[in-house]
Amino acid sequence: MDRMKGKVCVVTGGARGIGRSIVEKFSDEGAEVVFAIDMNKELLDQLDKETKKNIRGYQLDVTNRADIQEFVNNVKEEFGRIDVLVNNAGITRDALLQKMSEEDWNLVIDVNLKGVFNMTQFVSNLMLENGKGSIVNISSIVGERGNIGQTNYSASKGGVISMTYTWAKELARKGANIRVNAIAPGFIKTPMTEKMPEKVLENILSKITLKRMGEPEEVANAALFLACDESSYVTGHVLDVNGGTVL
Ligand code: NDP
Repeated sequence: MDRMKGKVCVVTGGARGIGRSIVEKFSDEGAEVVFAIDMNKELLDQLDKETKKNIRGYQLDVTNRADIQEFVNNVKEEFGRIDVLVNNAGITRDALLQKMSEEDWNLVIDVNLKGVFNMTQFVSNLMLENGKGSIVNISSIVGERGNIGQTNYSASKGGVISMTYTWAKELARKGANIRVNAIAPGFIKTPMTEKMPEKVLENILSKITLKRMGEPEEVANAALFLACDESSYVTGHVLDVNGGTVL
């Protein structure tokens, strides 16, 4: 119950789905504060009402660099540090290659790839000042293996994995103890996958060894391990949480 004791945590896309499950897990495990960053004001208000006092909703778009800088400044002023960053916010705009619009390509890359760069750049400045931290990037099985209809999404999630390897190396220089890992979830029951057509879901289920979709909490458990000190010798790792999915 106290694996996150005293930690200042930031989780993007924290108002629902996998992000919300991670926020609640960190809170239950004794974090000093968990900032649930999201764009969805209604869900953030609900989160503030329904959850514990150490959870704080914060409306922020991960594509807005000026707002991220302001957020990090505010947290620095109040707490002096950020111990844990989970880059979880992500979107899909699926279409086959020939039909994918430039607008949908740009949007997914901007949120899923550049959003992770934006958040990590500003938050890691503060982590470097303090000489420690743990960053967990939520990628996807699709970033490792590709998927029909997901050119933009798979490119963004593959990029998240390569940034994870790069930052694990960069942020551990000069004696800094900043670990950077990624999780590659398979198909998890959230509002994101609710949108998938039944035929596609049936096809996916046939490829999952455990014959079921995952629960958000099963990804949150992996995020907890990578965020807390139990994984103190793990960095530059991509953890598959996919029930044995073969795409
Ligand atoms: P959801 O769509 O359920 O939740 C994502 C949250 O992120 C939403 O609350 C959304 O807000 C928020 N968000 C979107 N864009 C931004 C932004 N620019 N700035 C801040 N917040 C934003 O997704 P999941 O919980 O399913 O997915 C979470 C992560 O896990 C994503 O990165 C996804 O790619 C990844 N993933 C999910 C899998 C799955 O099967 N569900 C499988 C593999 C990876 P809003 O409501 O306003 O859009």
